[in-house]
Amino acid sequence: MIDLRSDTVTLPDAGMRAAMAAAPVGDDQFGEDPSVNALQEQLADLLGHEAALWLPTGTMANQVALRVLTQPGDDVVVAPESHSVWHETGASAANAGVQFTVAGSAGRFTADDLQAATKPTGHMILPPTTLVQIENTHNRAGGVAWSAAEVRPVLAKAKELGLAAYCDGARLWNAAVATGTPESELADGFDLVAVAFSKGLGAPAGSALAGSADLIRRALRYRRMFGGAMRQAGILAAAASYALANRERLHEDHANAATLAETLQPVAGVSVRPHDSNIVVFDLDEAGPDAATVVQRAAAEGVAVLAFAPRTVRAVTHLGVTASDCQAAAQVLAAASAG
Ligand SMILES: *Cc1c(COP(=O)(O)O)cnc(C)c1O
Repeated sequence: MIDLRSDTVTLPDAGMRAAMAAAPVGDDQFGEDPSVNALQEQLADLLGHEAALWLPTGTMANQVALRVLTQPGDDVVVAPESHSVWHETGASAANAGVQFTVAGSAGRFTADDLQAATKPTGHMILPPTTLVQIENTHNRAGGVAWSAAEVRPVLAKAKELGLAAYCDGARLWNAAVATGTPESELADGFDLVAVAFSKGLGAPAGSALAGSADLIRRALRYRRMFGGAMRQAGILAAAASYALANRERLHEDHANAATLAETLQPVAGVSVRPHDSNIVVFDLDEAGPDAATVVQRAAAEGVAVLAFAPRTVRAVTHLGVTASDCQAAAQVLAAASAG
């Protein structure tokens, strides 16, 4: 099976397993896991923030960030189909008690969009907008990568409006490769930035938040509150460090995704969403097969993809699929999506 359902299906290789086996560990809740500490320091440096905090999942990173940066009842501005809204089983409402306002389209919004979506604080009726959240890359929009030039004016507007800023950078590594920008530049100006290791680079688990020492101290409390404080997590942190060292290879995934997109785009009835990185999302018009049919037809030919909506399919490239796998998969998906 050529598995393009998600980049989370990647597996640790022998080198990563060796790094995990050799990792020095300790009790991370006493701050005594050398591998976690080293990863956190590396990340703070890499992302250009004062401090970083290990978390077991990206969903928890998003939830902790919302708790740190908002109060219950607050309004958070996001792009359409953001992960926090669609993929976290209502966690943001349950854990932080926030509501979302959607701005922009296709994974992005502008400073003007942000201004239009923002409600004032201290109003008798309106919910106070206190946070802007950027997802980079944006998953459901199709792996859309925000450039630093797109982020900067939005964050300047946020500052002017008195909003905090959060980056869900589960795939910030992909955004850095796609835009040719260092991660620190894409992470600049946010109060908190999340990154994940469990996507296309083979690590079994792990995410992190980076920000000021003060915000990370507050995040530490909510990590414990949400049940995410771990003990000898260094075994996982070692896998994360190993993954990080190999992130340059993500450009191969992007090239493979471009192959998929270029093969699918000309198929009648298919429209491929804008894509910059390792995710290809395509919509199927009413005249042709629906997403479930495409998934089923592709599976019968040895290609696994996900139905994202009744007429929307997602394919994701990663460490576990080669260029020739993706060329073959592109032909299968094109045939499955036709008529
Ligand atoms: C995968 C992902 C997350 C976190 O997911 P987990 O499965 O909880 O690690 C968060 N945001 C985005 C955009 C993602 O794609």
